[in-house]
Amino acid sequence: MKNLTNIGVIKQLLEKYGFTFSKGLGQNFLINPGVCPKIAEYGLAQEGYGIIEIGTGFGTLSAELAARAEKVVAVEIDSRLLPVLDETMSEFDNFKVINQDVMKTDLKQLIEQEFTGLKTAVCANLPYYITSPVIMMLLESELPVDAITVMVQKEAAQRICAKMGTRESGAITAAVNYYGKAQTLFNVSRGSFMPAPNVDSAVIQICPDFEYRNKIKNKSMYFKIIKGAFAQRRKTLVNSLSSALSLSKDEIISVLEKSGLDKNARCEQLDMNMWTTLVNNFE
Ligand code: SAM
Repeated sequence: MKNLTNIGVIKQLLEKYGFTFSKGLGQNFLINPGVCPKIAEYGLAQEGYGIIEIGTGFGTLSAELAARAEKVVAVEIDSRLLPVLDETMSEFDNFKVINQDVMKTDLKQLIEQEFTGLKTAVCANLPYYITSPVIMMLLESELPVDAITVMVQKEAAQRICAKMGTRESGAITAAVNYYGKAQTLFNVSRGSFMPAPNVDSAVIQICPDFEYRNKIKNKSMYFKIIKGAFAQRRKTLVNSLSSALSLSKDEIISVLEKSGLDKNARCEQLDMNMWTTLVNNFE
């Protein structure tokens, strides 16, 4: 296996293929040898698993995934990387790359076609510019995956993995909590990448879970309410929800009271059980 975290090897590849990093595509490749094996191991790259990877770069993480999992299918938007991957991933016949924008890829179909009889998981060092849209797309597609293990900007990790009912939580926390449980696995410093970004990163894992999907009666009502509440997070729920739901303040107060909530409650004070009760009472 080529040592793709070795600066000398990377420089040779850059020169041989005339490759230049695209800032617009979030191309910061991992050069810290300790990180990819850890992502692969936490990310369920193991026997019996098919792994979807998003964004291959030169294949640093892809190789660690392919060395452990039954099969790896990567979605990479930049066609300039294909000849590089032909070389760097040549020893793995369980690796395939699809040259496409992941946001335009039907991942459910990909799983059905590529991973028959296998359990599945997603692993990626995500490009920063589309972190939240990719995570939301992965969750909203309700893919049959056991885990989504991704590297994101540290601040995004803090938001996504915040506890509901705390100041750190936001609309994305509430959205992620609807679909599953998120946790930060470990932090990764900016010096672990080439070129180095000007932010630190963290690897997070979201494990899909049906607890709140089952408890919340009306999904679209839940998303309408959390969107409206967190868009005006400084306001009380009475104020933010009366405009988001076009209801009078008295109507909102009566639902809050029925849900056991104070009429001065704000969105960052509610845990998932409180949101569930509130949304179901609006139903
Ligand atoms: N996995 C490699 C690593 O860890 O070194 C590369 C990670 S780099 C942060 C992000 C990768 O995602 C790049 O290879 C980039 O070209 C690719 N990418 C960016 N936007 C994408 C998109 N919309 N769909 C698929 N791949 C994308």
